[in-house]
Amino acid sequence: MIHPDTRLDFLGDSMGHGVVAKQFIPAGTIVYAKDKLEIEMDSAHPLFYDRGYREIIDKYSYIEPSGMYVISWDLAKYVNHSCSSNTLSTGYGFEIAVRDILPGEEITDDYGMLNIEHELSCSCGSDNCRGYVKPNDLEFLSEEWDERVKNALKNFNEVHQPLKHLVTIETLLELESFFLRKENYKSVSSLLLKRTNIFHTAEY
Ligand SMILES: [Zn+2]
Repeated sequence: MIHPDTRLDFLGDSMGHGVVAKQFIPAGTIVYAKDKLEIEMDSAHPLFYDRGYREIIDKYSYIEPSGMYVISWDLAKYVNHSCSSNTLSTGYGFEIAVRDILPGEEITDDYGMLNIEHELSCSCGSDNCRGYVKPNDLEFLSEEWDERVKNALKNFNEVHQPLKHLVTIETLLELESFFLRKENYKSVSSLLLKRTNIFHTAEY
């Protein structure tokens, strides 16, 4: 589920649709958290072998470390990539605003954290555009992302968190542990797909 203060906008022919903030969303706010309505499937699912469905799955899903594909039932699936995104995935299973997001600003995340299966060329326009988003970006960029996430988490308990009810008690305890001892931080590198969890090579 995406933060309630967002809407779907058509951003133009080249960008297509994207998600835009309706209100100010401060750094440290959970912007996306998986909820129980999300569609989840592994690569053994029969729809992986149906060309039409496979295109939808490839376009809208992200892949968890377990190998599970997740498609959001709400606007979250329309969030676009930026190499200088204003939200990032975290090792705690939710995405967080890593800087203040202004009303009318597009919400973006970094697809390099989502275990994409194929390299994507990128022309996001940010000053530090990497040019490509790669399936193994997490292996090389985790340190940089961790710094931004840790910085955002400093505000976690200070900002309004409309999605906090979706965070499990276990995860809240993990966060509490980090707030008490910085070395207990859970790195974004924990999001990296464990390749042994792919049971099938689903080609069509
Ligand atoms: Zn880029």
